[in-house]
Amino acid sequence: MDAYDLVVIGSGPAGQRAAIQAAKSGKHVALVERREVIGGTCINTGTIPSKTMREAVLHLSGFQYQGIYGVNYRVKDQITMADLSFRVQQVIKNELDVTQAQLFRNGISVFTAEASFVDPHTIRMASSRGESTVSAGSVVIATGTVPATSAKVPVNGQTVVLSDQVLQLTALPKTLIVVGGGVIGVEYACMFAALGVRVVLIEKRPRLLEFADAEIVEALCYHLRDHRVTLRLNEELDQVDDAPGEGVVAALRSRKRIAGDVLLYAVGRQGNVESLQLGAAGLEADDRGRIPVDAEYRTKQQHIYAVGDVIGFPSLASVSMEQGRVAAARALGLDLHSKPGTYPYGIYTIPEISFIGRTEEQLTDEDVPYEVGLAYYREIARGQIRGDTTGRLKIIFHRETRALLGIHSGNAQLYQQQKDFLAGVVRVRRLRQRLAVSAKDGARPLVEPLGLHTDGAARGRRTIQSVVQSRRGRRPPAAHRRARLRRCPAQQADRSDRAGPDRNTRAAAQAFELITP
Ligand SMILES: Cc1cc2nc3c(=O)[nH]c(=O)nc-3n(C[C@H](O)[C@H](O)[C@H](O)COP(=O)(O)OP(=O)(O)OC[C@H]3O[C@@H](n4cnc5c(N)ncnc54)[C@H](O)[C@@H]3O)c2cc1C
Repeated sequence: MDAYDLVVIGSGPAGQRAAIQAAKSGKHVALVERREVIGGTCINTGTIPSKTMREAVLHLSGFQYQGIYGVNYRVKDQITMADLSFRVQQVIKNELDVTQAQLFRNGISVFTAEASFVDPHTIRMASSRGESTVSAGSVVIATGTVPATSAKVPVNGQTVVLSDQVLQLTALPKTLIVVGGGVIGVEYACMFAALGVRVVLIEKRPRLLEFADAEIVEALCYHLRDHRVTLRLNEELDQVDDAPGEGVVAALRSRKRIAGDVLLYAVGRQGNVESLQLGAAGLEADDRGRIPVDAEYRTKQQHIYAVGDVIGFPSLASVSMEQGRVAAARALGLDLHSKPGTYPYGIYTIPEISFIGRTEEQLTDEDVPYEVGLAYYREIARGQIRGDTTGRLKIIFHRETRALLGIHSGNAQLYQQQKDFLAGVVRVRRLRQRLAVSAKDGARPLVEPLGLHTDGAARGRRTIQSVVQSRRGRRPPAAHRRARLRRCPAQQADRSDRAGPDRNTRAAAQAFELITP
């Protein structure tokens, strides 16, 4: 039986990064993947295909230029599913090649087999070619998820589909019903709406994307409705009827019946744990297949870690990669620093949403006093020139310490800029100059939560104060504030306008200056 320092189960982003991190440190690493192709949901059915489809949609539909040339502007008339999947297949192939090369050049042993535990240190690998076992000093479980299904939703891959099957559609539907207002459901709703498909989005909660900032999501809802998307919030699916030749009908608990050509069922995902024999390792998962871990991604077995989608929220490829790296480092006693609180989030809706740090709702619940600076893309010339007038950027500061608590944007162009800004990859020097705040005035708490450092330049607080001007005022009692936020997210947008156009414009300019290269 071969022995490895680390055995990684699953070759999605979480597993790949765990394996590469360990191999780069000179460890003997095995990666076990049950599919014939590596890359997991990310490369084969999720992130990469859907993001490539989004690019194809934006390009072919001429969506980004419709603000300038009118809503009828198109790069191609009669866009087909074949047009969209043509580009997707190319990108998938390239990504697979890149990933395979990375694993190969790092000397990782890749096995195509289904892995399961024999005991806490022994892994069985089963495939059509036979069975073998390996022993593992440490194990990283990165088995990901599959779309959740329901007995009441007869998935057939043609008229009733799961998110993994969208690109297999043979024709664009005229009407699409999307069940599920999470990231996947909303992203696909946006893409099909941009193609001119009538979309009905059903979500049982009162709002979409609950973990994102309410004000930014509210703006997204406005754009969705503007593109003829019907939002059915607070509505629960009862069952789906699919009569051949008659289309699909979604029957809701409220007794509404919604008819469409295709129904996309995107209500959560289920952890891939059934075949792992977790019990043999002394582990168990919850009813949604999620494996409980501590802050370092360690399970209740000291040498077994779990990362990526199989541990639950946020279930993003970027975060899964970082979790994989951290888990491998912890398992092998390597020194690696990572700050989960500063992981950026990107949601590829149209317009896209990105954020880092905490939302107003979280801060309100935690009773943290804060101020908000809000800037609109339409108020700078670049927004007008590009025909992009939808964007907004929101910066949340601690009212007393001036620590930067969160940045939220809804805009196609801002995501990369914001990521650079937050990661401190570039412009740290410029940021220091812009903020120009001495350590005594609070620069350290402002930038340190983001992993940036101050040089103690001393030019007062004015810049920050004018950025954060818009939401000053007496705070109502906590309970009252919470109720207001929950009941009426749109009200927050109104509050920002009270400061008057001049102050808002100034804040907008200041905030954008902070992040514009
Ligand atoms: C439609 C869609 C769009 C998305 N868009 C984005 C996005 O824009 N941005 C973003 O950051 N994230 C996005 N995601 C999420 C992202 O794809 C996941 O967060 C990411 O793939 C999770 O990585 P993972 O390594 O945990 O699992 P996965 O990528 O699911 O990989 C798990 C692997 O483990 C293998 N496996 C399972 N069980 C076993 C076993 N017993 N033995 C061996 N192998 C096994 C599976 O075959 C699979 O290859 C999207 C997801 C979907 C579905």
